[in-house]
Amino acid sequence: MSLFGFGGKCEICGCTEDNPCYNPKHGFCSWADDTRTICTHCADKEIAEDPETEHCVNDSIEAQVNLLSREGMTIEQISDELGLGETYVAKIVKRDSEGGEQ
Ligand SMILES: [Zn+2]
Ligand SMILES: [Zn+2]
Repeated sequence: MSLFGFGGKCEICGCTEDNPCYNPKHGFCSWADDTRTICTHCADKEIAEDPETEHCVNDSIEAQVNLLSREGMTIEQISDELGLGETYVAKIVKRDSEGGEQ
């Protein structure tokens, strides 16, 4: 619920609990402050500057899936290409074609 109110979204990278950042050494990010406006992967300079840190992982995965889908690739081909489960890919593609309904 707080996603639509105060906090719950990193002010620097825009990540949320459903769409966290990832670093191979540190895992997924969490909140670095009580008001949930900055995540650990932005607050920690070392992690933030690590080229292996990927912010908002779902954004990039969903963006890639949607791009390939728009290019005419099937769910099977996309899951092969990105190494994702077909169920997961199907969920993203379906959500996209439904026009972003919640
Ligand atoms: Zn962040
Ligand atoms: Zn984050």
